[in-house]
Amino acid sequence: MIRQFELVETVKGYDPGADEDALNRAYVFAMKAHGSQRRASGDPYFSHPIEVAGILTQLKLDSASIMTALLHDTVEDTDTTVAEIETRFGKDVARLVDGVTKLTRIELQSESSKDAENFRKLVLAMSEDIRVLLVKLADRLHNMRTLHFVSAPEKRRRIALETMEIYAPLAERIGMQHFKDELEDLAFRELNPDARESIVKRLQFLQESGGNLDATVTKELSELFRKDGLEAEVTGRMKAPYSIWRKMQHKDIGFEQLSDIMAFRVIVNSVSACYHALGVLHSHYSVVPGRFKDYISTPKLNGYRSLHTGLIGPARQRIEVQIRTREMHEIAEYGVAAHWLYKQGDGPEPAGSVDGRQYRWVRELLDILEHASNPEEFLEHTKLAMFQDQVFCFTPKGELISLPRGATPVDFAYAVHSEIGDTCVGAKVNGRMVPLKHQLANGDQVEVMTSKNQTPSPDWEKFIVTGKAKARIRRFIRQRERAEYMELGKQIVQKAFRQQGYEFTEKALQGILKKLKAETVEDIYVHVGRGNTTANEVIRAVFPGDRQAQPARSDDEAIDAAEAAPPKAKAKSHKKDNAVPIKGLIPGMAVHFAHCCHPLPGERIVGIVTTGKGVTVHTIDCQTLDNFQDQPERWVDLAWSTDSSNDPYTGRLHVTLANEPGSLGSLSTTIGRNRANITNLKIVRRNVDFFEMLVDLEVTNVKHLTDVMAALRAMPTITSVERART
Ligand code: MN
Repeated sequence: MIRQFELVETVKGYDPGADEDALNRAYVFAMKAHGSQRRASGDPYFSHPIEVAGILTQLKLDSASIMTALLHDTVEDTDTTVAEIETRFGKDVARLVDGVTKLTRIELQSESSKDAENFRKLVLAMSEDIRVLLVKLADRLHNMRTLHFVSAPEKRRRIALETMEIYAPLAERIGMQHFKDELEDLAFRELNPDARESIVKRLQFLQESGGNLDATVTKELSELFRKDGLEAEVTGRMKAPYSIWRKMQHKDIGFEQLSDIMAFRVIVNSVSACYHALGVLHSHYSVVPGRFKDYISTPKLNGYRSLHTGLIGPARQRIEVQIRTREMHEIAEYGVAAHWLYKQGDGPEPAGSVDGRQYRWVRELLDILEHASNPEEFLEHTKLAMFQDQVFCFTPKGELISLPRGATPVDFAYAVHSEIGDTCVGAKVNGRMVPLKHQLANGDQVEVMTSKNQTPSPDWEKFIVTGKAKARIRRFIRQRERAEYMELGKQIVQKAFRQQGYEFTEKALQGILKKLKAETVEDIYVHVGRGNTTANEVIRAVFPGDRQAQPARSDDEAIDAAEAAPPKAKAKSHKKDNAVPIKGLIPGMAVHFAHCCHPLPGERIVGIVTTGKGVTVHTIDCQTLDNFQDQPERWVDLAWSTDSSNDPYTGRLHVTLANEPGSLGSLSTTIGRNRANITNLKIVRRNVDFFEMLVDLEVTNVKHLTDVMAALRAMPTITSVERART
């Protein structure tokens, strides 16, 4: 265990300006906070944060990081609060400790491993400061080094698996090869001890039987470079057992066929020297085809740069060689931490490594590094911008769903499954009910409630952010609406044909597609259903010679248009002659039914005499009658005769229905089932929630209309139905 003064001395060694007092206080505070807690190894718990701090001093991290390492488990495992840390050690350290604590909690929440990639992103998104991630990785590294002390096999396995899937790749992503290799090897040791053991034994055998191949090759290569006037440092090593294992698995080959288990590293002084060294090697040895990679001109996404080549080297052994500068080497081993170390330490400036082809966020880090006046400022502004535009949420089963920032439970539902999105009615976030427009945060657990009766709502479009949800809702609404308008339009067109005494055929409509600017017959129905085209226009298009079906005078009034052009059937009807079943009329007198109240057989009626126009029939409660209050001489007492015929009369309804898929459909179906025919309809007002429309129906009498109204009122999507009285 590193002692207090050793730790402080180490930090002061590379950062003379470090706050010695604060480091000492953090050390003592953490020691007291953990008190008599013990690790699985039997060591005092406090040995763990000290070791983690020790690992970070090897990366030469700033004193805030070292203090964070010392304090990193105090909030999670002791009574200490973040507020207390802030009071004692300042905002910066408190924020870092809080960040590490949050990561630890997320880690405990995870059971499933299938979302490894999303989980890595979640960890990155939650590590708002790169130091949080560095402390977390060092924490994990020390826990892995001491994993064998944990007695429960399942727990060991879970931790090892998590390391393999989450933390080793994360270390790789931020370029910390050194951390990655050790994490992987420690996890491999736990997950597949037999495989590891056999690989290690085989490596030992090769090492011994090869007569210290390592040293032979190193010597020969060094000699070669020296002769060519090139200053180079050559080192050789066996590849890590896990990387050999992965290669065996990946390429499905046995250990015997695995040739390049030896890797040599050549470190030179400049980029041009890298290519010089490559030239020396390629001109002396046979090159293994397909193994040459130039990661200097094309760096890896994590900023890694080197030349790789495969050779039949000294002693006819197949070897792999990596050529790089010292700086590239540091970055390869320590990634982001190396950049920082360069700025702070006495190493060369990293200017040469600022390269437009590097991974965006590494470049951003470097930009800040370049322009910040001191390392603290650099770290202060270093945010892991990479995944800041995303949020990661859990399903109740622990599955991780990645969404854009600002996403809502509806987006979440659609991301899980379209069906769940379509039928979602509510959501719980972390166990609490939230509105559907609630914005989700990182780490939220989201439970979506669904109902089979729910369909996507146009309202959702106002707050959802994912393209998938938007597309799905729009398509759904379009389809449903189209289907309804089509059905409605078809009924209206068929009816119009009947009324005009024609037999309806779709063939007739095929012939007028062009004329009505429609692609299919269905389109015509939709146009009519929507009211863009009237049934009369369709009739006129099919039978241009039919003079009865003349255009309306006022085209904007669909209903008036229909009445201005009375269908053939009506031309012969009671409304035009005196065969009207009304008692009290003077024979031969013209009769009109008022458009304001649409009187129906069975209703109490009254007539108003208009000079030159005959009698207009109103219902007794029609408001228009108020205008004639002081002209009693114009009133005529009327009544329906009892033998009223079954001829249809037009009744007009004012209907308010929900603006949602299905409502128009149920309107027309219900009317049809009640043996009434829609002769026209006109939308008078429409908004997000409902539309109001005037519906003209052919009914036999007032009871028939009242029956239809009662049936309509029973529909859940219809909010009100009244006789239209204008
Ligand atoms: Mn820890």
